[in-house]
Amino acid sequence: MTSSGAGSIDCDVHPTVPDLRALFPYLDEVWRESIEQRGILSFESASYPPNAPITARPEWRGANGQAATSAADIGRHVFDRFKSSLAICNCLYGVQLVLNEDMAIAFTRALNDWIAKEWLDRDERLRASIVVPMQNVEAAVAEIERLAPDRRFVQILVLAMQEVPLGRRQFWPIYAAAERHKLPLGIHAGSSYRHPVTALGWPSYYVEDYAAQAQGFQSQVASLISEGVFAKFPALKVVLMESGVTWLPGFLWRFSKYWRGLRTEVPWVDRPPEEIVREHFRLTLQPFDAPAKPDLVERAVAHLRSEDMLLYSSDFPHWQFDGNDPVPAGIPEGLRRKILVENPIATYDRLKTDRPQEGVR
Ligand code: ZN
Repeated sequence: MTSSGAGSIDCDVHPTVPDLRALFPYLDEVWRESIEQRGILSFESASYPPNAPITARPEWRGANGQAATSAADIGRHVFDRFKSSLAICNCLYGVQLVLNEDMAIAFTRALNDWIAKEWLDRDERLRASIVVPMQNVEAAVAEIERLAPDRRFVQILVLAMQEVPLGRRQFWPIYAAAERHKLPLGIHAGSSYRHPVTALGWPSYYVEDYAAQAQGFQSQVASLISEGVFAKFPALKVVLMESGVTWLPGFLWRFSKYWRGLRTEVPWVDRPPEEIVREHFRLTLQPFDAPAKPDLVERAVAHLRSEDMLLYSSDFPHWQFDGNDPVPAGIPEGLRRKILVENPIATYDRLKTDRPQEGVR
């Protein structure tokens, strides 16, 4: 069975940091010593427990149980199996969870340098997102400025569940840098665990945490719009990654309805939120959370009322689908081509001058 993703741009793949020691060559001596003295073994995030089935498909795990531990491994699946021509690496290692700002800055820099050396340098078809230390806005901007000259970095990566809603003005220098360098803000599922992952408090099970990510995304969409981010930064694009898709239309109907009654408190939101979302927000395809029937998939996608919003993704190595085809049956043919190539290129400015050579079926 061949993939229908031939020539596609995969907007969400996940390199795995095999061991904290992999970052040692990119850290100052003081931090290497500190890690040894404290006995810290890993920065794995509870958002993606290494042994959870959803974290990697069983047949994609290596002998040590990990998946996606090398550029060659991602190449075998994303380029050979799924036939993509470019892929964007979003590294979810838990450097954004660290409370110590100095440590967060040091390990974020190390992680980005590790990505450049061990992944981008090894396969010219790979791109990456800049992981930023949201613990300190000034440092986050500095990291963007440090890496922006390397055009293989095509996006800024933050987690869906933060200490503070992303629309708040304290984060605006990050959005100014994003707009300046034409880098979309990529918001990926995951939490910095400063707060419970549901609005009700801590759940008992991982399935509740994972399903509750949609709540986090909804609140971030509402925050970014209500605070006026897009009035201030009209060129900013936001990509929701691993958010799922089908929650968005219902949320926008609700958000736009109440905006009509309450808009006097947010005068800078000068049009219905659903219009702002269609202009500024994009969503990666997997995990696609619609029923498996093609006719229902087509109806679910039609509810977005835009053909520009979906971006192809496999979410490799996360176990989001079976078989070799990340594109669900029921996506109309014309829209499929937009999802695979045209929408990613329209979203990621740095891919406009770096088009894949292979054609799309
Ligand atoms: Zn993902």
